[in-house]
Amino acid sequence: MSKKIQKICWSVTLFLILNPVISVAALVVYLIFSNSYTASQILWITLFGAVFAVLTNLSITMGYHRLFSHKSYEAHPLLQKILLFISAGAFQGSALKWSSDHRIHHKFEDTDRDPYSINKGFWHAHMGWMMKHESVSLPIHAPDLEKNKWVAHQHNYYGYWSIGVGYVLPAIVGYMLGNLFLGLVIAGGLRIFLTQQSTFLVNSLSHTMGKTPYSTEKTAKDSLIVTILTHGEGYHNFHHKFQFDYRNGIRWYHWDPTKWSIQLAALIGLANKLKTVQFSEILKARLQTETEKFYQSKFYEEKLNPLHEKIIQSQIRFEKLKTEYKNASREKMDQIKSEMQIAQIEFKANMKMWKVLIRSAHRMA
Ligand SMILES: [Zn+2]
Ligand SMILES: [Zn+2]
Repeated sequence: MSKKIQKICWSVTLFLILNPVISVAALVVYLIFSNSYTASQILWITLFGAVFAVLTNLSITMGYHRLFSHKSYEAHPLLQKILLFISAGAFQGSALKWSSDHRIHHKFEDTDRDPYSINKGFWHAHMGWMMKHESVSLPIHAPDLEKNKWVAHQHNYYGYWSIGVGYVLPAIVGYMLGNLFLGLVIAGGLRIFLTQQSTFLVNSLSHTMGKTPYSTEKTAKDSLIVTILTHGEGYHNFHHKFQFDYRNGIRWYHWDPTKWSIQLAALIGLANKLKTVQFSEILKARLQTETEKFYQSKFYEEKLNPLHEKIIQSQIRFEKLKTEYKNASREKMDQIKSEMQIAQIEFKANMKMWKVLIRSAHRMA
């Protein structure tokens, strides 16, 4: 047997290939040759499959990724159980294994030790890594998660949970909607395939296509297209720079359904301690990245650097005043409020000036 074949993890490889192939083939054959289904069954089961697909993806992004891998917020035991239950049906491995691998990805991004390093090629980062014994058998190292009894339970009984939630549950819902087979194939097999592809894009396309506003050191990128396809995970440049922030899209209008779901969970008491990075820190990273190209120039020394400092300082002052305002007495409130307004006006004026300077720096370069 050649060495290449010996390296293949056949159980994962066959599942990743056969699940979509059999699901599509079975669906096509059934739709052509059977007359035991109705249009309304197809419609309702597809609708259920679509909702289940979104929930499956959110349980991975909100659960496996932002909760278990990064601990960017704390979740009520009930929410943890819901997330672990739904995510088992994604067929992406247990939360424990997934999170352990993902932490290695962040720690060793782009190096040989990164299990899904983009430097080994797009295919490797997307799916290829899972087909190799070498990456599938990476030892688990996540002592904090091993102590979590629900995470440990999902890991120990993963085979049962994944088949139960991934295939049996959709088949039961399909049966209740009038067609067990369509439930199994559409909301089971096809949904698993689509949700897997959405997650896999974060490891491949997010390290290939997009902008690098916060750091150019590594390959992670921000891309709106990937963000839409992955429920908010496409702000990957930001995420790799500030991995403990529960948001990936930092502005309220940035497309990040995972962030909104966490906020909703917090609103109804199922999540708390949502971690965010101070805006001044984010700004610092952004301005530094914008000026990297000009570090050696005179223009940087004379114009860009002093203004950079001014912007950061006015933002830090604003953040300090905001904290003071929360604890201030009634008499002090008005004074702090007007100081906050001044800091904000200064900040906005400096930012305008910054944009003009960056434009002219690019013209001169
Ligand atoms: Zn990444
Ligand atoms: Zn991450």
